[in-house]
Amino acid sequence: MKNNNPYLNLDRQMVGDIYTSNEVLDNLTVLCDDFGSRFAGTPEEYKAATFISETFSRYGLKNVRLEEYPYAGWTRGDATLTITEPIERTLHCISLPYCPSGDITAELLSVGYGSPDEYSELGDTAQSKLVMASSASPQDLGRWVHRKEKYERAVLSGASAFIFVSEHPGVGPETGSLQNNRPAPIPGISVCKEDGDFLTRCLTRYDKVVMRLQTTDINEPRTSWNVVADLPGGDNPEEMIVLGCHYDGHDISQGAHDPASGMVSVIETARVLSTYAADILKRTVRFIAFGTEEIGLTGAFRYVDAHSDELDNIRLMLNMDAAGGPSRKGIVLHYWESLEPFFKTAQEQIHADMPVGQKVHSYSDHFPFFLEGVPSCHMGDPTSAPSGRGFGHTAYDTLEKVELDNLRRASSIGARIALRCANTDNLPAKRRAKADVQQIVDSDPGLEGYRISLKLNV
Ligand SMILES: [Zn+2]
Repeated sequence: MKNNNPYLNLDRQMVGDIYTSNEVLDNLTVLCDDFGSRFAGTPEEYKAATFISETFSRYGLKNVRLEEYPYAGWTRGDATLTITEPIERTLHCISLPYCPSGDITAELLSVGYGSPDEYSELGDTAQSKLVMASSASPQDLGRWVHRKEKYERAVLSGASAFIFVSEHPGVGPETGSLQNNRPAPIPGISVCKEDGDFLTRCLTRYDKVVMRLQTTDINEPRTSWNVVADLPGGDNPEEMIVLGCHYDGHDISQGAHDPASGMVSVIETARVLSTYAADILKRTVRFIAFGTEEIGLTGAFRYVDAHSDELDNIRLMLNMDAAGGPSRKGIVLHYWESLEPFFKTAQEQIHADMPVGQKVHSYSDHFPFFLEGVPSCHMGDPTSAPSGRGFGHTAYDTLEKVELDNLRRASSIGARIALRCANTDNLPAKRRAKADVQQIVDSDPGLEGYRISLKLNV
């Protein structure tokens, strides 16, 4: 058969190496078992950043550095949730990041899934209540409703506190931040599905359920780091392709799938590109391990601020957050139709399951780049229906659930895509004008949660 792949030899070298090496799983083991959650503000966060930078250096990358930035830190305190009327019962709960300390006694109110319609049906009855919402999204809405949107609608409804209920049995409470890089206006906590179901039964059986919520969390300024490293291009070194993933997890978890499976896939991509393609890259490939994503995409926002003079030169940003999980390793373009033929051609050359589609969401490190108009995409399945996190963001996102084969699929596609993006003569996407970004932000159904967060900022 005719060979239409100009990168065939390099593909074989890189993919052959990835599939005969255990390096990617070794790196995942260090990130998860040696450094634990790597949560913002822990000593392990800095150790992980140092390990990633040392690994980039060992693989031969250039200009390896930690870029420091300030952010709004948060430390978990004990949280106590007690039913005080008509029965007395204490339930296990955890504060969600950026929860303030507080002591609130109020009537419990369920808002179901916490969808826009359910909130508008509540009218002003949510005023001063403890508002409870499931982590699930209604099937007919056609989009995932993020925890932060549910919380922010509770704040806008005048609630005194927010209770987030996991939709998945047997995984305990699900964590996730209430705000981006700032203390939350009202307390927000999380309970497991089983306790949420119990509270729902109480609301059915009793006219009125009153609860007391005590939180003791600490909000204070801190410092974090992005890790940045380059494989410089020979022809156009100032033009670059950016591959990134965050390295911080949530404090209750190893964050093995989210994010570490994606982080080590980025590192593996760097390893094989450096080994086999460093001398032939035309554009620079930049690798970024973002800090403090879980509490507000802070590292990524900081990066685009600090590097504003280089954003015109980024030809594509590929976000590989949690990319080494079980999902299909497709390319989800953030409304860059002009790039579709390029990725379709790449797909035909690499003979891997790599669906290509178009949509965007505001809940990972590509978003600050998207807002700046930089051509961006993430690795994922553009055909997947909205679904819950499963064991994600719980204590059970652990190392043994990540499969080596999935890490290999993610890194072998990441490496082949980065190679093609760095070396093609024709990557037909230029930075978007502000007005064109705004038009998408104002109208895209997938960005409804972001629009709600803007309302809260006013
Ligand atoms: Zn993530």
